[in-house]
This record gives sequence, structure tokens and C-alpha cells, in this order.
Amino acid sequence: MAWYPSAKRMEVQPEGNAQPSIRPTQMIFHSLAAPWTGRRTYEYWRDSTSLESHFYVEFGGSVFQYIGTQTRADANMYANRRPDGSGAVSVETASNLQHTDRWTPSQVSTLIKLGAWMHKQHGVPLRICRSASDPGFGTHRMFAQWSNGGTACPGNERQRQFREVVFPGIVKAAGGKPPKPEKYEPFPGADFFRNTPRSALITAMGKRLVAEGCSAYSEGPGPRWTDADKRSYAKWQRKLGYSGADADGWPGKTSWDKLKVPKV
Ligand SMILES: [Zn+2]
Repeated sequence: MAWYPSAKRMEVQPEGNAQPSIRPTQMIFHSLAAPWTGRRTYEYWRDSTSLESHFYVEFGGSVFQYIGTQTRADANMYANRRPDGSGAVSVETASNLQHTDRWTPSQVSTLIKLGAWMHKQHGVPLRICRSASDPGFGTHRMFAQWSNGGTACPGNERQRQFREVVFPGIVKAAGGKPPKPEKYEPFPGADFFRNTPRSALITAMGKRLVAEGCSAYSEGPGPRWTDADKRSYAKWQRKLGYSGADADGWPGKTSWDKLKVPKV
């Protein structure tokens, strides 16, 4: 069980003892939508909810820790603890009631140090999570699986700060190189296509399939996943040498990565 040396430790019980252990692979940042102190937040987790975060950062930058980083905390839905035992460490932060404000300079500084510690202590890789289960750093709103179907937490200002200041700051503080911006879309997961998605990603995929000579489109490609996308994708799989069930038109990670769908 790991406790951040710079944090004020206020362990929430019985959760701290009762909740299962995790192997921390992600750090997820939040806004509380309340301008509370660390002590007030501790009392709220302890008395009023079945939720809690691992950490809390006040406006002035003071950091509190409520749960050890190798114990599950319940702020990130399906990322709290996955069947393989991996899980996310959650960081709540003081904000205004609508979480429309920016993190204060003191909060930014604390988040950067905390993230760098997370990398050194637990080996969380210096990248922004590419999927809901991908190890790295993220914000609560990035993946619907991290909440009950989606959240606006943190607000737009903090989301921008995360990408432009906090995450690059973590990379620098941890002694890493800034990651190259990704040129291609990561595989969105097999389930994504099963739900008949409507997304610019489908159009981008379709354009690549056409460019590879794998078009089964009579019109389009367009943003809605259709049978024409599936038939086109099956052509791509056959072009790669797959057959049978491996060329059924449902995208998989290997064939997707080879398609090199540009960032949308
Ligand atoms: Zn949140």
C-alpha cells in the first residue's frame, strides 16, 4: 500500500481496509464541483457516500490522501478495479460549483508532482490513456466507462489545462520525453462497432478502406457504421491474408493498426 509522502494522510475507513487491492495502472483527474477543504471532502466520503477518491487537492495546492494507491477507490466506475486486478488512482480537486474554473497555479504544480510520483512509484506510463483500460494518465470525462455513461468532469478549462500544461508537466518532471502526437487513430475496441456507431471515425476508416482498394460502398463512406463498412472491412482483412472468421468484417486491433486511420 503506497502513501504519497507529500500528502496529508486521512484514511477513509472501513473502505481502506475492506476494499480489494489493485495494481495501479492509470491516474485519473477530476473536479469535485465544490470548493471544499481536504478535511471536508474526507468527511463527505466518510459519512455521506459510498464513493471516495484516493487523493484530493485544495485550491492552495495542499494534497490529501484517503486510500492507499494499491487499494480500490470508487470514483471511476469500471476503472476502479478491472477483472485482471488493474485499476485507476483517482485525484479529486477543489473547484467552483460548476467546475468551470481553471486549476490554480498551486493545484497545477501539485498535480504535476503527484503524477510524476505515480510514474516513479507504480510505473504508470507517460502517456495519455488511449482507451478506457490503457495504462496512462487521463481525465474523468475521457471515457464513458470511467463514469456512469459519461460525465462533464472536469470542465473544459481544466480539460485543456490537462492536455496543455499538467500532462506535459508530468512528463517533464518525471524526466521523460514529451510523447509524439499520435498520427493515427487507436483501435476503439471491438464493442465500438457492434453498437452501430455514428462517428467521424467511421468515415475516416471508410476513406482508408477505399484508398486500399477495399470498397464495398455504393455510396459514402459516411459516419454511420453499416453493412457496407463491414463488407469493405472484410475485404481489407482478406487483403491482409485473413480468412474465415478472421475476415468477418468486424475490426480487430491488428488489422485496424495496419489500416492507419488518420486522426479525426
Ligand atoms: Zn469526476
